[in-house]
Amino acid sequence: MSYVILDLEWNGSYSKSAHRFVNEIIEFGAVKTDDEFNITGTFSELITPKIGKKLSGRVKELTKITFEELAGGVDFLTAAGRFGEFLGDDVLMTWGTSDIHALIDNYRYYLDEVRIPFLKRYCDIQEYCEKAMGKYDEGNQIGLGVCAEMLGVEFSEEDQHRAESDAELSLKCIKKFTGTVNVNDYIMKADCDEFYDRMLFKNYFITDLKAPEVDKNQLKFRCEKCGRVARRVKKWRLHNKNFTSDFQCKNCGNKFTGRISFKRKYDAVKINKRIIDNSEKENKSAEEAKST
Ligand SMILES: [Zn+2]
Repeated sequence: MSYVILDLEWNGSYSKSAHRFVNEIIEFGAVKTDDEFNITGTFSELITPKIGKKLSGRVKELTKITFEELAGGVDFLTAAGRFGEFLGDDVLMTWGTSDIHALIDNYRYYLDEVRIPFLKRYCDIQEYCEKAMGKYDEGNQIGLGVCAEMLGVEFSEEDQHRAESDAELSLKCIKKFTGTVNVNDYIMKADCDEFYDRMLFKNYFITDLKAPEVDKNQLKFRCEKCGRVARRVKKWRLHNKNFTSDFQCKNCGNKFTGRISFKRKYDAVKINKRIIDNSEKENKSAEEAKST
């Protein structure tokens, strides 16, 4: 099996005809490797913007690309077509899924189509590296540069944020783990509806406890002192995506506040549940009162 690690640069531009912002891709950069992650080829293509008339300050600063340079590029569909030929049947890898979202965004704009025609199998390198490091946390993703630093991978700050060198940097991070964690376990089939459903799914917090996804058993709270199921003594209150209520243990009299949230993700509902000790709360407010 061979792999292609892709990195894109894009420029956020407002399209008057589409009435929305498009992350207009301005550069493709990629490296192709054999099954042992030795580089066997590289790919680089600049794209002449059709939507944006200038580069945002942030893009200019990060990439050091100039609008004049891009004038010598090709259009998106030509670049994407050439990249598709370069990819062939290999596994596509990117650092995080934002490049996949940018491709979907551009195909949607130019062809009114969310499917990425060349994509067959996909691997998210960020997820792979984070899990291999034991640092996977969806709420706190690790950027490529930070990851490289954590792994002691050398790179020049100057070359970063250009597509091909970022792809190479991702490769160096992958190689830190390929001896111990099998990359193939992270490859998913991407030429199917399920992949796009997953990519386009937007996580949300459930704000109705009657929703079918809410596991009613999770609304029970156990007394931390004696372990019995405590009785809820107030109605559930919804505040900042959290449901909160007060509880009292019939067995030992312990009073506490229970808090829970339900986050709907593509695969599952993630529950965040905790007990707020009322004595703790009272002590805290007493201390606050003292200090003022
Ligand atoms: Zn109790």
